[in-house]
Amino acid sequence: MEVKAVIFDLDNTLFDCMPSEIAAFGAAKKVMLELGLDPKLVPKIDSLYKTTPFLGIVNEMKDAVPENILDAGYKTYSSAGVGDDIKPFPDVVETLKGLKVIKILVTYGDEKIQWEKINKLGLAGFFDEIYVFNSLESGKTKKDVFAHMLEKLKLEPEEVVVVGDQLFSEIRHGNDLGMHTVQMLHGRHSKSKP
Ligand SMILES: [Mg+2]
Repeated sequence: MEVKAVIFDLDNTLFDCMPSEIAAFGAAKKVMLELGLDPKLVPKIDSLYKTTPFLGIVNEMKDAVPENILDAGYKTYSSAGVGDDIKPFPDVVETLKGLKVIKILVTYGDEKIQWEKINKLGLAGFFDEIYVFNSLESGKTKKDVFAHMLEKLKLEPEEVVVVGDQLFSEIRHGNDLGMHTVQMLHGRHSKSKP
């Protein structure tokens, strides 16, 4: 079946988000230590961070660390700003210009910050649809958003390709719905295997 739409993830798919992520992670640890996080737990948190989204760390550590400390860490992490010098990966603009199908951007996180990234990268104009949502506040996952897109645009799952870097998010959710998926090997999830 012919491909009619491509759904792109933003962070570590269309641009290198790692410098901002590493700075945000450092800021979150600093806040948690100031609130009384046991420094002996830092190596465990560092090692989890290599493979786990921050929210996964919060879940993993909730028996060992008081909730207010984890909350403050998550808030700091998810609200850290982005640099002014962020740029799309090479080829991204050319690829988007050349793609003659429906192009959709789906990204979650702090809505204001995700929009700030899209605007600083100058990418908004290349997409037919842009979905920015806060998964924590809305309780939605990318699967919910993808399913909504299929309905709205009257597309079959096999007509859609999902491009992203996170196996546990867009790749898994795209596969669950029967879409084609392409994993970008950028960022800290690049070593994870299906
Ligand atoms: Mg990503």
